Amino acid sequence: MPLLAIRDRFCDAGGPVAQNYPLIAQAGFDGVMIEHRDPLHPPKQDAIYRTSQKAALAKANGLRIFCAHASYMLGSELMDNGEKADAPFHYMMDCLRDLSENEVPVMVAHAGSEALTPKGMDRFARLAAEGQRLGVRIALENLRDRGEVMQVIALLQAVRSPYLGLCFDAGHNNANADLPPLDLPAIADQRLFMVHLHDNDGKSDQHMMPYDGTIDWAVTMRSVAKANRAVPILLELVERGHAELSPPDFLALAYARAKKLAALHEEAVCA
Ligand SMILES: [Zn+2]
Repeated sequence: MPLLAIRDRFCDAGGPVAQNYPLIAQAGFDGVMIEHRDPLHPPKQDAIYRTSQKAALAKANGLRIFCAHASYMLGSELMDNGEKADAPFHYMMDCLRDLSENEVPVMVAHAGSEALTPKGMDRFARLAAEGQRLGVRIALENLRDRGEVMQVIALLQAVRSPYLGLCFDAGHNNANADLPPLDLPAIADQRLFMVHLHDNDGKSDQHMMPYDGTIDWAVTMRSVAKANRAVPILLELVERGHAELSPPDFLALAYARAKKLAALHEEAVCA
């Protein structure tokens, strides 16, 4: 059975993220996804800020950190031909080192939507090489915008490193009412490094529980299993639609849904 994971801030309205770790462990999850501290856009009220603090929390609760999301604000700048790329590029390099020191195996990043430039591709190739040296894989995430999706595909084709791959976000792939979902795991082929699983109504990005929206999970998990037989089943939830549930009950439901997805994944691997 694949391992089960959830975003540590599974409920955006909740209190300090530190209190979520014991609850996530008690619900039965194997690990979490964290957000990486962003020196350019620091959080307003989160006392648990550094990767080392989150790594200690995870360890104390018997959880693994499967991936860290690098700053949401960066991506496009890396294609810049001038100085605009310097700060984001150095931040990404620092992020890789920080994750390596704390044994986080995957950095999730955005690729932006600017047209590929030779300098930009070189920066991603250098990031991938540094990731390889440090043992941290870089997973580019598909966003809702089709231009950004095409950018991820173009980058994966241009930079053929085993350390640069895809973070398949099933919710983003479903959230375009006017465009059909793409079989992105198949496009990434052997470089599907991470998944973000959440649901929506097909119109906007809602980060709901799987089976609360319109995604065909049997099709989705078959496609994921084909590309990666051992990827953790990771829910990227922002509490929606179950506001009546206490955090432990919300997590119990999320765990049950994750198990359903894991069973579909397992079925497809064995088929
Ligand atoms: Zn995501």
